[in-house]
Amino acid sequence: MTSIWELANPQLRNLAVYEPGKPIEETAREFGVDPRTIVKLASNENPLGPAPKAIQAMRAAAEDAHLYPDGGGFYLCKAIAAKLGLALENVILGNGSNEVIEFLGHAFLDLDDDVVTSQYAFIVYKLIATSFGARTIETPSPDFQQDLEAMLDAITPKTRIVFIPNPNNPTGTLISQREIDRFMSRVSENIIVVFDEAYFEFLDHPPNTLQFVRDDRNVVVLRTFSKIHGLAGLRVGYGVARPDLIEVLHKTRQPFNINSIAQAGALAALKDEAHQRETKRVIDEGFAYLQEQFTEMKVWFVPGVANFLMVNVGDGPAVFQKLLARKVIVRPLKGYNLSEWVRISVGTMEQNRKCIAALKQILRKDRQA
Ligand SMILES: *Cc1c(COP(=O)(O)O)cnc(C)c1O
Repeated sequence: MTSIWELANPQLRNLAVYEPGKPIEETAREFGVDPRTIVKLASNENPLGPAPKAIQAMRAAAEDAHLYPDGGGFYLCKAIAAKLGLALENVILGNGSNEVIEFLGHAFLDLDDDVVTSQYAFIVYKLIATSFGARTIETPSPDFQQDLEAMLDAITPKTRIVFIPNPNNPTGTLISQREIDRFMSRVSENIIVVFDEAYFEFLDHPPNTLQFVRDDRNVVVLRTFSKIHGLAGLRVGYGVARPDLIEVLHKTRQPFNINSIAQAGALAALKDEAHQRETKRVIDEGFAYLQEQFTEMKVWFVPGVANFLMVNVGDGPAVFQKLLARKVIVRPLKGYNLSEWVRISVGTMEQNRKCIAALKQILRKDRQA
């Protein structure tokens, strides 16, 4: 039999499949426990669940599920544009903001092109670049801070896209407005600059990158309904850019990439400001609690700003397994070459306390051993 690699695109050979957070159901099956007793702090999901208004809207939308969705997502794009003070033509929806990253690959990447991002940057940029046969250049991130100067210097004649997650996942660190402005004043017009702002709504001092869209720069800003809006399972995100750039991205998408129930849910979630406020309050409270506990436990963490913390536990995969046995799912970071670390999402206070109690038991035993 011939190897499938004589047929498949060669760039896929070394492409690792994205490893998501371990699902609750899978953990429950493996440990023979009730799924309702499991605490999942592995995917930066909203611990309060979906916006209540979104649930209502989705129930109503289910009645019309026999009809194809609005391909462009007119009402949702219009509501997003209005919220951002931009035009409908500035917005494109994706099946999660991850799909917009894929549009960017279709639109701008070819075999042997480069993309530039930073060490420890969200891994999806590299996966998608690789799938298009492009090379990913990662610049060092000393102390887990992304270095935009280094990213500028790393740009080659083959570079098409620079990916800047802000704040980054899994490190949680934020790039300042000053650094962004300096970068934008120096970067070539021939480069597409992507600011991935999945955690934007959690920030006390959010960066202003939409100004570059208004100034007709080659900038794409990515946001999502997966985090503060609590709709990760629906798969809705969006990109914001100049109308001509958005038009190019539209050519790369499938006709009905956002289903009708997701469109209805996201539209209602956008208007559910009470849920967004309450989510931010719960995350702020939990974030402060976790930082306080880790400090007290003398556990080193990266001072992040999103709804998760990257924590040095010594042996990430081992602590991940031991937490699983105590019905707490966190995220090991092997894929990022961060084997001493795990990423812990902020949950409800009850979930946070369970996680800390389990971690205390585990680390006490490890330190005694
Ligand atoms: C969670 C996250 C996203 C969101 O992806 P979706 O496809 O919208 O669910 C995007 N970028 C980063 C850096 C993230 O952490």
